[in-house]
Amino acid sequence: MNEVERLNILNQYGILDTPHEEPFERIAALARLIFDTPIVLISLLDDNRQWFKSNIGLDVRETPREQAFCNETIRSDDVLVIFDAELDIRTAQNPLVTGQPHIRFYAGAPLVTPEKARLGSLCIIDRAPRRFDDREMAILKSLAGLVMKEMELRRRTDHDWLTGATSRPAFQETVERLVERTAPPQIGLISFDIDHFKQVNDRFGHLAGDRVLIEVVEVCRGVLRDGDVISRLGGEEFAVLLPGATANSALAVAERLRQAIENLRRPEVDLPVTASFGVTMLEQSDLGLADPLRRADEALYRSKANGRNQVTCSWAMPAGITPGNGFVRTGY
Ligand code: GH3
Ligand code: MG
Ligand code: MG
Repeated sequence: MNEVERLNILNQYGILDTPHEEPFERIAALARLIFDTPIVLISLLDDNRQWFKSNIGLDVRETPREQAFCNETIRSDDVLVIFDAELDIRTAQNPLVTGQPHIRFYAGAPLVTPEKARLGSLCIIDRAPRRFDDREMAILKSLAGLVMKEMELRRRTDHDWLTGATSRPAFQETVERLVERTAPPQIGLISFDIDHFKQVNDRFGHLAGDRVLIEVVEVCRGVLRDGDVISRLGGEEFAVLLPGATANSALAVAERLRQAIENLRRPEVDLPVTASFGVTMLEQSDLGLADPLRRADEALYRSKANGRNQVTCSWAMPAGITPGNGFVRTGY
């Protein structure tokens, strides 16, 4: 598996830069008890850093990737043991060995996904050299398996099983995290609902309807940028979060999504698929998803009432700013 695929899979877990969480802390604490080492890490190898989901006995949440012992660990499915890092040619010059935290002993079990991507490791570290027998290796490997199980659970609940779009709870969390971090928020929120979707199901069957939902998310992903988030809020209702957007760019993105969906063609669905859109910008007073979503949904409702397959925004538009083909309507 190449590095791009591996990083893609890592991103699907949505775990990087999240706070400490109890299940992972418990496994790390258990490893510390069992092996009696001062440091236990759950380390994930990102593009150019190693980031720690859990970091018992170490104050930092990340280090540069080139310093990570874990680079070596993810080359195989086996536990990597370095009995004395000062004597091992692979690690003797490593700044984590020559300086803080003065690593001497390292044992790491790779975190392997069901599709065989090695994302990082569960590792134990000591400041003195030590032995490590087969039984201990088996225990470490088994604890790494538990970490992976937890990560797998969260991958499933964070994503909609049908389309792979972000699930509603995960989307809500993302909105909360973003509004906390960005003041004043420059974040657009689009909500959209497929038009007359019941007819698609009634005429072509539920399975064909499912395929349409999958493809709608796919074409939307083609329009969106990295960092934008698309969520399936329910049945045939979706929302898109646009960090760093202005009112005009959010509106333009909604119009591009509208066109992309309108141009979607499925051989077994002999009916144009369209959607109605509502757009709003997050405001300083929005604490979570509820308020902005209500504004976006009100605008969406106007799109429906005015004939569907169009974009409406929640704010009054100055005359003349109408992206696309003039389907944009003003809200208030
Ligand atoms: P409108 O333009 O007013 O939105 O009309 P609509 O038919 O899209 O709206 P309505 O809310 O009446 O129907 C939504 C339909 O979406 C009904 C339901 O069967 C279908 N639906 C919801 N979830 C799924 C799903 O997971 N798969 C499929 N195939 N259909 C779904
Ligand atoms: Mg609908
Ligand atoms: Mg609906």
